[in-house]
Amino acid sequence: MNKEIIYAHEHITIDLSGVKKDIDCFLNNKKQTIEEFKDLKAKGVSTIIDVTNRGMGRSTEYVAEVINETGINILQSTGYYKEPFLPEEVYKINEKKMAKILVDEIINGIDETSVKASVIGEIGTSLNKIEEMEKKVFEASCMAHLETGTPIITHTTLGKLGLEQIDIFKNFNVDLSKVTLSHIDLSGDLEYMVRLLDTGVNIAFDTIGKNNYQPDEKRAEWLKVLCEKGYSNQIVLSMDITRKSHFKDNGGLGYSYLIDNFLPRLYEKEISNKHIENMLVNNIKNIYRLK
Ligand SMILES: [Zn+2]
Repeated sequence: MNKEIIYAHEHITIDLSGVKKDIDCFLNNKKQTIEEFKDLKAKGVSTIIDVTNRGMGRSTEYVAEVINETGINILQSTGYYKEPFLPEEVYKINEKKMAKILVDEIINGIDETSVKASVIGEIGTSLNKIEEMEKKVFEASCMAHLETGTPIITHTTLGKLGLEQIDIFKNFNVDLSKVTLSHIDLSGDLEYMVRLLDTGVNIAFDTIGKNNYQPDEKRAEWLKVLCEKGYSNQIVLSMDITRKSHFKDNGGLGYSYLIDNFLPRLYEKEISNKHIENMLVNNIKNIYRLK
């Protein structure tokens, strides 16, 4: 395996503990993150996309320390998540003003720092409904994308409403090859995955290891079929680690599970190296124009 693996959807630090009323959802285990990322680096990971945005406990300072200590490149995000995690400002300003905030974080930097947002995401929709404020965030994100060309990463709840999200992007003439829909593995619906891919959008299998939602054996089977159908250049992989209990030290799988455990499963299915390199390396490099 090539030594430039990229994790497509992670949260270096995130705090959803207030709304979720569960302290496990406050990921602030910097020491453990650094330890696990050093291991990832040794295993060939070069870059991680951090989709923590406004209102999710984003911290450029925290991320800078992780980058410095580990040598892993981390791309950061602008945007707003979903109900009920949206900050007050979302209710108070219109799409245009919101787009301006996003563009400012992309062009000038996040929170008065010089760290520029490379991603608009993760912007999300609720389970079977796009709430009014979520629609507003999507529209503002489209505007910011059109102005800057910055790629978009969405959140789907349990993989649902991907087609509805695509409709919004189409209304704004957003280039779908710059959009990645997250958590599509949770839909458990291969036919639906193909319908999404046929629009030209990218999909993420980014809940690898969350066997209580979908077993990894299924994830590997779907990937095998999708790769054989020729879609490996539109699929990206990650684990979406968001809880203290996900760390190895705390009894969780840890970040390297994708490489140590899931990757061998893909080889067992005889998915070719070319497809695997597309999903772990090339696709994100293309979407983000990384060298
Ligand atoms: Zn998400």
